[in-house]
Amino acid sequence: NNKNIATPSRTKQILKKYGLTMKKSLGQNFLVEPGILTKMLAAGEIDKDTVVIEIGPGIGALTERLAQEAKQVIAFEVDRRLEPILKNELAEYDNIEVIFQDILEANLPELFADRFEPTDRIVVAANLPYYITTPIIMNFIEANLPVDAYVMMMQKEVAERMTASPGSKNYGSLTVAIDYYTEAEISFIVPRTVFVPQPNVDSAVLKLKRREVPKVTVENEAFYFRLTRGSFQHRRKTLWNNLMGIYGKTDEAKEALRLGLEAVGIEGSRRAETLAIEEFAALANEFYQSDV
Ligand code: SAM
Repeated sequence: NNKNIATPSRTKQILKKYGLTMKKSLGQNFLVEPGILTKMLAAGEIDKDTVVIEIGPGIGALTERLAQEAKQVIAFEVDRRLEPILKNELAEYDNIEVIFQDILEANLPELFADRFEPTDRIVVAANLPYYITTPIIMNFIEANLPVDAYVMMMQKEVAERMTASPGSKNYGSLTVAIDYYTEAEISFIVPRTVFVPQPNVDSAVLKLKRREVPKVTVENEAFYFRLTRGSFQHRRKTLWNNLMGIYGKTDEAKEALRLGLEAVGIEGSRRAETLAIEEFAALANEFYQSDV
């Protein structure tokens, strides 16, 4: 009865034993291919010095493997129905703690202050519920917690947006935000066939390595993120038209915009998707200083 929850037969057996039906509304697609877990653990460089925060353990497929390889696993699961399953099926591990709470409502700074030693290497690992992938990741990285790396399974298209290069159609304000805080790379692509039930999309495992300091230096982060989001507001519009939409209601504001763009040498006729993160930072700092 033990080892490898992540197989088709064992998963089927557990679902039957507890009469569990998966909830699509919670993004419940369970992994049934142990090889994928091995690759996730390798991507996260999980070892006995690593403490892992897992989001959404489900019936424990990834949790089990993490418990074997890591020092400790703290998992957040919103679905209380999974409590008896996780309790019984993972009973042999004494280094797992499951907190039944919505990860978006968790007090992360408090968790970090209470639970972790300064010497712990912390990794966040998850096969994410796809419908809230972006808020979960942004919550973590914006809180600037001492997480070394994130290893997250998500919809392939979202992973592509998070790792896009300037000039490509997937490049947007999300890419710029991720690149500001982390070094992001797609570790590997995951076919839909390794889940029960099968989702309608393929997945990818994304690795985010937290930067010690953000990639670019900005005078004011809130201003910088407002500017990048605003620049991508209407993707088909030029940078000038999008900026005018945010700042340029008056003639003075338009003149300040024109001067600001000129000062940093960026043509207003370009589209936001062609701007590198360094150019967004230069623009934000220029506008912030000149009170645009
Ligand atoms: N880790 C398991 C696996 O790989 O087989 C399950 C992955 S399943 C894609 C996502 C899991 O996240 C489900 O167990 C679901 O109940 C849980 N979940 C959904 N929303 C959540 C939230 N806001 N906070 C914590 N867990 C959540």
